[in-house]
Amino acid sequence: MTKKIAIIGAGLAGSVLAERLSFSADVTLFEKSRGTGGRISSCRLDDYSADLGAPWFSPSTERFRMWLEQQPEITRWQPQVCDFNHVQTASDCLYVAGPKQSALTRRLSSYAKLITQCRVASVLPRPTEQTPRTLLHDDQLIELGCFDSVIITTPVQQAKALLEAIPEFSNRTASISTDPCWVCVVKIKGQLDSADVFYGDHPVLFRCTKDSAKPGRQSEENCETWVLEATKHWSTNHIDANATDIFDALYAAFCQLIHKTPDILSSRTHRWLLARHRMVCPTPFLWNSETGIGACGDWFNGVGLTNQNGIETSWLSANALADAILQESL
Ligand SMILES: Cc1cc2nc3c(=O)[nH]c(=O)nc-3n(C[C@H](O)[C@H](O)[C@H](O)COP(=O)(O)OP(=O)(O)OC[C@H]3O[C@@H](n4cnc5c(N)ncnc54)[C@H](O)[C@@H]3O)c2cc1C
Repeated sequence: MTKKIAIIGAGLAGSVLAERLSFSADVTLFEKSRGTGGRISSCRLDDYSADLGAPWFSPSTERFRMWLEQQPEITRWQPQVCDFNHVQTASDCLYVAGPKQSALTRRLSSYAKLITQCRVASVLPRPTEQTPRTLLHDDQLIELGCFDSVIITTPVQQAKALLEAIPEFSNRTASISTDPCWVCVVKIKGQLDSADVFYGDHPVLFRCTKDSAKPGRQSEENCETWVLEATKHWSTNHIDANATDIFDALYAAFCQLIHKTPDILSSRTHRWLLARHRMVCPTPFLWNSETGIGACGDWFNGVGLTNQNGIETSWLSANALADAILQESL
């Protein structure tokens, strides 16, 4: 009989798993937000979609690079990069999805039954003689169904709550922490004669990316859209500040950087509470074939990368878990 698999979270890890497992199982993908993408999601600014999370893919393994090359919505991008002193620095060949980063997860997740705006609140293993083995509830305590396998792909803080009933796994999440990141998206009037990306040491700014310079973006004439990310230290120190103050501080730092104060056409500020993981789990994923419960994502550095490479870590972790599950069912 076809196995029923639930995946919790439609970020890159969940969407990759959904695509790979859907060929041999009945897969349901639960996502608490309105759309897919998680930390590569986008936001609307008037008629424009700007990338609010990771601005690009920067593969360090040949496997990830080749996979990116094969995805229909992915294009190479070679931006002009400067440090915060306007000194041009070498740029890796980057990849971006068009017309927005989450176009990639949207297609991958379409292979499964996608249920959005559904926050899974509990993962309960049932007595061994009962099949399917695991029952899910949402945050209104409504039953979401029973599944042969359940895979959690959320950031570790959210996974901790979901893994409560599985002590062997919840212990593994105890010491992992995450850093926040304040992000502002701003559409400005006119065109700056500047680099596409600023990056380096700065007391406030982590990185500034001209989103409208990415390939496949349809921007209005005579304006630019920039995404300003704060450093993790500044974001932590201002974690409870209001969004207006955050915008003012980041935009002031940006204006100082470009030596201009362009007119603002529209803007949006977002606080990522769980942007990047600090301490990471030393295995590539968690999986128990007896219970059919597992977890993967960017908090598993058993795939061998640093936590600077969250996206690629997620991708490798999801693929390693998909390999293990598919191998078992052969
Ligand atoms: C501003 C920013 C910049 C970044 N820059 C880079 C970069 O340059 N390079 C890089 O490698 N990485 C970067 N990252 C990190 C990278 O985005 C992440 O490592 C990667 O996207 C994680 O993917 P994931 O699928 O593992 O997790 P996520 O993208 O977090 O996906 C998890 C999904 O689970 C959903 N979810 C959570 N709880 C529940 C629940 N209870 N029920 C249902 N759904 C739930 C969430 O809504 C989310 O969609 C950046 C992150 C941010 C925020």
